[in-house]
Amino acid sequence: MIKAHKIRLNPTPEQEIYFRKAAGTKRFVYNQALALWKWGKSVGIEDFGPAEIKRQINTFKEEQFPWMYDVAKDVFEGAIQDLGAALSNYFEYKAGKRKGAKVGFPKFKTKKNKKQSFRLNNDKFSVENHRIRIPHLGPEGAPVNMAETLRFEGKIMGAVVSKVADWWFVSIMVDVEKPEPKQFAVATVGVDVGIKTLAKLSDESAFENQKPLRKGLSLLKKLNRSLARRIKGSNRWWKAKSKLGRFHFKVANKRSDAHHKASNAIAKNYAFIGLEDLHVKGMAKNRKLSLSISEVGLGEFIRQIEYKPDWFGGETVRVGRFYASSRTCNDCGYINKELTLSDRTWTCQGCGTIHDRDWNAAKNIEQEALRLACA
Ligand SMILES: [Zn+2]
Repeated sequence: MIKAHKIRLNPTPEQEIYFRKAAGTKRFVYNQALALWKWGKSVGIEDFGPAEIKRQINTFKEEQFPWMYDVAKDVFEGAIQDLGAALSNYFEYKAGKRKGAKVGFPKFKTKKNKKQSFRLNNDKFSVENHRIRIPHLGPEGAPVNMAETLRFEGKIMGAVVSKVADWWFVSIMVDVEKPEPKQFAVATVGVDVGIKTLAKLSDESAFENQKPLRKGLSLLKKLNRSLARRIKGSNRWWKAKSKLGRFHFKVANKRSDAHHKASNAIAKNYAFIGLEDLHVKGMAKNRKLSLSISEVGLGEFIRQIEYKPDWFGGETVRVGRFYASSRTCNDCGYINKELTLSDRTWTCQGCGTIHDRDWNAAKNIEQEALRLACA
């Protein structure tokens, strides 16, 4: 099983120059490869794939673009692999073989694109405690300081160096062995993921939501105003923009931390997890909800509850979103058709039980998931 650990880097100014150079080289090669592919297509060359594009560029690389040799060779190869993946995703989508969001034809990458990244193969770097060694980086490949040590043990498969806000990160992929199924504290559970409370569980426990963005809303307004007052493209504008970027990044970090902590605890403690398919994308269309939803990033949280149990030998079963988990009384099965989104508690007209809306839903989700798993 492959796990990734994203670690913040503390590069020296020289090392940061290298990172920019590598990201720039990747963008350049990607664009060259895309232009070549379009040309190949226009003159009707068959099977003009990544391998042939690479061969073609290699014939003139040394003469025309000698600076490409200043960065690790993987940067060059990674760019062509990325284009290959983007093309095949596009053609699979066009042929109807790919589900999910629409995939467009690959575009040329401009310098304005703030996403800067490049890949490294596992034979091209080494990790030791707080240091990562990358070839071509300084005369002896001086190591770059990492803010944390690598969390996982196992065979290192590769890495991606990328820039987010004003920071550089390395995401290291490690192939870890799947652990033996552990003894779980509790056999089964239902999880109701929500906006007010991050998750309510059928054993009447809960994980609170961190709402750092809402707390920092006044600061956000201030930062936005200060950006709007500056002349676009000026030094002061870039400074304000960078401040805003750091703010968003910090908020995202806090949120992500809360999500990982909760999903880890759920995956570790329960062997069988029932989870409702919230269809977050559809919900975000509702304007009133969209701020809170984008704020809490529930889609990513749900994804974590789905993949993490695999690490501990557990299992997650999703319950369809049309199943009336909130409206059905868990005690007698009566369906409360009058229940609205604002009702946090309700009294069952069938049996008189007073329900906490979400805990009742979580219990129904647990039962429905068990029914689906045994069907
Ligand atoms: Zn009832």
